[in-house]
Amino acid sequence: MRTIKALLSVLVMALTLSGCKTQQQEPQTEMPAADTEVISETKDGDETVDYLVVVNKLNPLPENWESIIKTVTVTNQLGREVEVEQTAYEAYLKLKEDLEKEGIYIDLDSVRRSVAEQQRIMDDFTKEYGADYAQKYVAVPGYSEHHTGLALDVYLIVDGKTVIENSEMEAHPEIWEVVHKKMPEYGFILRYMPGKEHITGYGYEPWHLRYVGVEAAKDITEKGVTLEGYLGMVKETDPKIDYGNSSIYTKEEMDSVITQIKCKFAEWKGCELKRIRYAGDECTAKENVEWLNTFGDTKYVKAIEFLMDFHTAKDIQSTMEPDYDYNYYQWWLGQTEDGSWDIVSWGY
Ligand SMILES: [Zn+2]
Repeated sequence: MRTIKALLSVLVMALTLSGCKTQQQEPQTEMPAADTEVISETKDGDETVDYLVVVNKLNPLPENWESIIKTVTVTNQLGREVEVEQTAYEAYLKLKEDLEKEGIYIDLDSVRRSVAEQQRIMDDFTKEYGADYAQKYVAVPGYSEHHTGLALDVYLIVDGKTVIENSEMEAHPEIWEVVHKKMPEYGFILRYMPGKEHITGYGYEPWHLRYVGVEAAKDITEKGVTLEGYLGMVKETDPKIDYGNSSIYTKEEMDSVITQIKCKFAEWKGCELKRIRYAGDECTAKENVEWLNTFGDTKYVKAIEFLMDFHTAKDIQSTMEPDYDYNYYQWWLGQTEDGSWDIVSWGY
C-alpha cells in the first residue's frame, strides 16, 4: 500500500485541447464538391505578417496581430463561413487541388477565431456550465493558434460523405499520410505531431495544418521537429517512455494518460522532460482511489501513477529548484465512470 501526499499541487486538471473543434455538429451531408467562394476581404495593414509566429499555451497572440493580417472569408461546403489569412488560403487552394488529383478531398472546417470571439465562447460556457467546466474545455482567449488565421482545421470528404468528427477522421490514416506528405510543398506543417505533446501541449491532430511558408515548412518537416524546437524556443528532446509490466493497462491506455501528462508538462516553461515510467499495478489499490476522491467532488473509480524525470529551467518561476534534476516526480490520475482520466495530483 502506498500513502503518498502531493505537496505541490492539488488541482484537478484535465487537458483541454484548445480551441480546435469546438463546433462540430454539422449534419452528415453528401453535397457535391462545390468550390468555396471568396465573399469578402477584410483588414488592411502595412506591417509584415510573421508566418513563423508561435502562439501556444505559453505565448499569446502578438498584440498588433489582428491589425496586421489580411484575411479572406470563404463559405465551406457545409455552408459555413470560414476566415483565413490570405496567403495561407492561397496556399491551401493549391494543396487542395493537388490532393484532388490523388482522389483526396479536403475542406476547411475551422480556421480563424478572434480573441474576442474566444472570450465570448469562454463567457457563454462559464455562464452555462460554470468556471471549472469552461476552463477545462475552452482554450484560454489569446492562447490559441487559431487566432492567427494560419492554423487550418480541415475535414475529409470520403466517397462523397463528410468525415468531420475527430474519431472518424482518425480512422483514415492512409489519407492523412498523403495529405501530410504533400503539405510542406505548399508551406504547411503538421503542427501537433504524435510524441511531441511535451513541447506543443497538444495531442496528435492530423487535421490541424499550420502555414509557415514553403522554405520553413520543408525544413521543419525534414528535421522532424516542432515549430518551437525549430525556432530554438525549447530544447527538443524526446523522453524515454517506460511502460513497465502491467496486467491492468494496455500500452494504448497508458499512452492516452501519458499524453495528458506531457501536455501539462508543456506548460512548464524551459523544463526538459527526460523520462516517464509507469509506477506499477499496485498503485491502483483501493486506498489510492479513495485518496484521489478526497481532492474534490469528482468521483474516481481507478487510479494510475506515473513517475517522471525532468530538468528544470534556469529561470523557473515556481517553488521548484531552478536548473535542477527532479527524479521520480509523481503524477496521479483518476479515471471517472465515463472512462476519461483527470490529472489529480502531481509532486513529491
Ligand atoms: Zn486546430
